[in-house]
Amino acid sequence: MSELRKDLITGRWVIIHKEGRRTKKRLPSQSLAKPKDEKDCPFCPESISDIKEKELLSYRDQENRWSIRVVPDKFPIVDSEGELDKEGVGVVYDRMNSIGSHEIIIESPMHDQTLDTLPYDQLEKLIWAYKERFLKLKENKTIKHILIVKNYGKTAGGLVIHPHSQLIALPIIPKSINEELAGSKKYFGFHQRCVYCDIIYEELRKPKERIIFNNNYFISLVPFAPRFSYETWILPCTHNSSFENISDQEIKNLASILKDTLTKIKINLNNPGYNLILHSGPLKENYLPEYHWHIEIMPKLYRSTGYEWGSGVYINYTFPEKAAQLLRR
Ligand SMILES: [Zn+2]
Ligand SMILES: [Zn+2]
Ligand SMILES: [Zn+2]
Repeated sequence: MSELRKDLITGRWVIIHKEGRRTKKRLPSQSLAKPKDEKDCPFCPESISDIKEKELLSYRDQENRWSIRVVPDKFPIVDSEGELDKEGVGVVYDRMNSIGSHEIIIESPMHDQTLDTLPYDQLEKLIWAYKERFLKLKENKTIKHILIVKNYGKTAGGLVIHPHSQLIALPIIPKSINEELAGSKKYFGFHQRCVYCDIIYEELRKPKERIIFNNNYFISLVPFAPRFSYETWILPCTHNSSFENISDQEIKNLASILKDTLTKIKINLNNPGYNLILHSGPLKENYLPEYHWHIEIMPKLYRSTGYEWGSGVYINYTFPEKAAQLLRR
């Protein structure tokens, strides 16, 4: 039977399609990157790129070779300089200039690595770099929210093979965060508990059929009402609304669960493209009792349909319990 399932946080409905994958053609797998196949990869250490001078952060060894490097995006979607200027247009419209920060976090100097093939300590450094940039940008009171996004593979919109993620800091709160904030506030109003903490509690009860991994600090799972086949969330077990408060111990454990989860996705789903998104609370709130930061990973297996765009009702071709079972393999 096909099923309608409701996401507990946002109230969003999804259709879990009973016919599953048979009815839909899968998007192609990503070919594995070859060692330095591009002459002018802008992110390789030896590339003479004009963004070189404007480095925002790097971790370097004694020979001055970097292992992680953060630079401004060459074609930023926001301006990093100037004052925020809001105005009304006519009687009904609002406009403001796009002030913020759009940064590229180069995850490794090695061109042919992927997030799952990086060693654990390199992933730890990457998470440290995210945290450092969050804390730095938080000083700028114009910026309201920071999102980390990774597009892996062509089917997920990835343009450069070299492993990297993007940081986008905006003077507004994005819609998806607003929906999560509103839903979790409503839930907290009823229950006096964080909805994400309740989800973790529920998922850890037997039979644990949607869990992929869990350690003392993090849990990775396929949610009850996922929008996409094999959608996976990684949540910290200790309540915390703001990613930038992540502790040293949590960084170590996040590196390990992230690598292990991505490895399972790559092996069991034959190296699909994916989007990875880090959702954290508004920067001005250091602690919200109702919100809980997390990572969402969306493997790109099927194209979205017009119905999904038009209705906001997603159609998922894999039952989440089956998805988790396969990913645990
Ligand atoms: Zn490269
Ligand atoms: Zn919580
Ligand atoms: Zn989220």
